[in-house]
Amino acid sequence: MSFRNIQNENYLIQKNFEENRASLQKELEDALEREQAKIFQETKAASLFLYELPKSLLEFGNAASFKDVQGIEAIFLFNNGTLVYPDISSKLLSTGRSFSDTKPTLVEKALFQTEREGGDLQEIQYSRETLPRFPLLQLDGQIQNALGLIRLAYKSKQYNRALRMLIPLENGPSLKGYLHSNLTRSLNLLHFEILVKMKKHQEAEEYCLAVLKQFLQEERIEDIPSTKFFFESAFTQILSFENLSQEKREAFWNLRSNFNRQLGYTDILVKNKDLFQNVLASDPTSKDGISFRSEGNVTLLKMSYPMLSGNQVVIAKINNDTYRERILDKLRIVAQRWNNVPFSITDSRDSLLLGAVPDSANILLQTTFNGIPTWELSLYEKDVGEIRKESRHRMLLMYGLLSFSLITVIFGSFFMLRFIVQEHKLLAMKANFLSSVSHELKTPLTSIKMFAEMMARGRVQKTEKVQEYSGLIGKEASRLENLIGAILNYTRMEHGTGAFKWEKLDFSVCAKKVFEAVEDIGVEKGLSFKTRFEPNVYVMGDYTALYSLAQNLIENAIKYTNAPGDIEINVYNEDDRAVFSVIDTGVGIAASEQKNIFNDFYRVGDEMTRSTKGSGLGLAIVKRVAETHKATISLSSKPGKGSNFTIRFRKVE
Ligand code: ADP
Repeated sequence: MSFRNIQNENYLIQKNFEENRASLQKELEDALEREQAKIFQETKAASLFLYELPKSLLEFGNAASFKDVQGIEAIFLFNNGTLVYPDISSKLLSTGRSFSDTKPTLVEKALFQTEREGGDLQEIQYSRETLPRFPLLQLDGQIQNALGLIRLAYKSKQYNRALRMLIPLENGPSLKGYLHSNLTRSLNLLHFEILVKMKKHQEAEEYCLAVLKQFLQEERIEDIPSTKFFFESAFTQILSFENLSQEKREAFWNLRSNFNRQLGYTDILVKNKDLFQNVLASDPTSKDGISFRSEGNVTLLKMSYPMLSGNQVVIAKINNDTYRERILDKLRIVAQRWNNVPFSITDSRDSLLLGAVPDSANILLQTTFNGIPTWELSLYEKDVGEIRKESRHRMLLMYGLLSFSLITVIFGSFFMLRFIVQEHKLLAMKANFLSSVSHELKTPLTSIKMFAEMMARGRVQKTEKVQEYSGLIGKEASRLENLIGAILNYTRMEHGTGAFKWEKLDFSVCAKKVFEAVEDIGVEKGLSFKTRFEPNVYVMGDYTALYSLAQNLIENAIKYTNAPGDIEINVYNEDDRAVFSVIDTGVGIAASEQKNIFNDFYRVGDEMTRSTKGSGLGLAIVKRVAETHKATISLSSKPGKGSNFTIRFRKVE
């Protein structure tokens, strides 16, 4: 790799890097704006929902479930400057106090204290007697005593009695103004609990709804903690009623969440009264009527949109953490695609939101996002060493790929060529086979036709001539039969062992049959035979296949041996093998041809072979039969001396 190459490569990478940087910046900006637009859209959809049903959100059976917007903590709806949602806020707002910080008064605790303070039996006794006699309980202490008394009845499970004492206390118009509002809620809760203890679930549910209705009608609520505590306890207990129908459960569930949500939202309003005032009064900063305003940790989103019914304003309190995470999630996806461009996103407090701040790298660009101006995007210069490393890496990769393709091309061409040559050879062999087969078939057919025609025309008169010609016709016909048999055998082998009939057979019997069929041909030719057919040479195999194996080997020995010559045929057992050998003193086979002769259609190109009839299929059949019978073939031969073909089968007992 030359230096100049690296230089060029550096330049290209640097240029590429700059383009990447610009794309990264744009994609981050787009992703941020897209996600924000989605949040705005969801907030608007939620506020429209609230606008449609601000009242029914606290009505039993009508309270629809409310879907939160991820990233938004609270939504407030104003119409022409008046708060529309949460609708209970107005009466709560008048207290001007935040209530989420104060823990609700525990009725249990208060009652326990009362019991302890008024625990003096005598005093309780006294109160019990005085209660019906003095319905106007004007002193707080006396009310505490009365409560203690009710509590005692409640504890001793005298529920009816407890209710009898409680109801006048709760409802008595004359008591109004004397009971502190948290005592009212304590009585409410005790009343509710007694109904639950009496297993009057239906009544308990109705009672809870009645208190809610009363609460919604009240102008001004003084004690929010105890109100909150009452409803929280009542709703939770109702939801745990076993026999509550699915429908009611859902209605109470929605009521509880809407109620809590409204209390929570109201608390936010109370706490940030001034900020809300300011935001309401301010003009929209952007043309689509959307603006943000922050004070301390609180960020409010204002969206104004005119509707037929008036000027609608939505103020949403952002949940800083979830809002940020929601957007960062989208930016992370973008950043993943550009992991080779060093960048960082930090917020106004300089904490890292995304990316990484390199130890020592020049900042190439620093900018804020349009969507969130407190976020700062920094893009850094890429380390020269790193660029070089990257370029080297790319060069190596390039060279690697190049060498790989070269090797593939070379190997590919080599194999292709070999394949073509082989295919070509095979084609030539097949063509040769076809021409020799058709020649072979034609020769006997021509003789048969000629003799038959001669006899048909009545030219042959003499009986011995008729006999001679019909004998010749028969001979030629059987030659034809043999040839066709060989071709059929060959194709049968081609189709595999499926066509075989496997059986245990004596190979001697099979080989002897073959020998007897061809012996005459050999003797006629002037050859002498020596045979050894040992009895009981058992093998597992297909008779027809083994017959053609023996036939091909013996016929070859006869074909390729000139007179006077000897042919030896042996079948015998040797250890765990069944051996069949055909040994001749014929023309022999050159060492270079020995492995070719077993190929389909292959014939040695010498004079002897040319003058001998054959198809080049015989030894191919032998090889296939041997293979399918798991037998081995060994051949030893010397040109001019003779050949020895030995087949070794697995012996079976
Ligand atoms: P073919 O029909 O030509 O005999 P084979 O497949 O039986 O076909 O034999 C392939 C070639 O092997 C023959 O053409 C011949 O040249 C040679 N060959 C086969 N057997 C002998 C043998 N016993 N002695 C010499 N050559 C043989």
